[in-house]
Amino acid sequence: MKTRRTRWAALVAAGLLALTACGDAGSDDDTGDTPEVEVEDREFEAGTRMAELQEAGSVKIGVKFDQPGIGFKTATADAPSGFDPEIGKILAAKLGIEADDIEWVETVSANREPFLQNGTVDFVIASYSITDDRRKVVGQAGPYYVTGQSLLVRADDDSINGPDDLDGKKVCSVTGSTSIKTVEEEYGATPAGFDTYSECVRQLENDSVDAVTTDAAILLGYAAENPDELKVVGEPFSEERYGIGYGPDHPELCEFINETLTEAFEDGSWKAAFDATLGKGGGEAGDPPALDPCE
Ligand code: GLU
Repeated sequence: MKTRRTRWAALVAAGLLALTACGDAGSDDDTGDTPEVEVEDREFEAGTRMAELQEAGSVKIGVKFDQPGIGFKTATADAPSGFDPEIGKILAAKLGIEADDIEWVETVSANREPFLQNGTVDFVIASYSITDDRRKVVGQAGPYYVTGQSLLVRADDDSINGPDDLDGKKVCSVTGSTSIKTVEEEYGATPAGFDTYSECVRQLENDSVDAVTTDAAILLGYAAENPDELKVVGEPFSEERYGIGYGPDHPELCEFINETLTEAFEDGSWKAAFDATLGKGGGEAGDPPALDPCE
């Protein structure tokens, strides 16, 4: 386990290093500079979920609304910005659905499985790590991005430099996330669970908790917004493989999602989506990850 962690820590750290360099992680609502995605007109087998969605001409996609660079939307913006919504637009376009016909549904971590199970959304693209437990109750295809869990602390705090310093510290994370589980089970921290990471950041700024933990890609977005007060410390200490969630009754969506991601990796649209969002902080998209085969 340690070897696997160390290997991933090195890879993730290398990929994320440049993201810390400058301030704009793509948190504004200006989606004008995001890549155009060409809507396709293709034929799906009758009776498949793809054919139904194409026929409906609209799709509901669950994303985060409070994670700069990944999924972010203010109350006045028409649509969210970030890497996850860009992946959502690529997926919708393959179903013949225009970006304007996507219904974006705010989906916090603990709502992701229930929203897929009860049909509140058709897909979840929300910093959603692929795990065996989640795959028991919903579909997850991908990954389309790999990051690792890290720590956000106050800029003037030198007492926390990595997960081994968390023993006895109060650490904020989100209910229903892999992050809260890891920090609680493996590092002896006292967890404080909230619905969103932005609430955790408020708790950190108020001195109510000592650290916030989740994926480095998410934390770097918050640190970039407030670099005088917040910093990301230490090496990433988990492997988080972001997948696209789909309803458990539609297994045919797995191959469709994998085809869509493969095409996006090959035609440059995945890289363009990254560069317009998370990459704005200076990070490199790197090589696309290898996709899990569908069962
Ligand atoms: N990627 C982790 C997860 O899926 C943490 C981030 C999140 O909660 O969205 O649980």
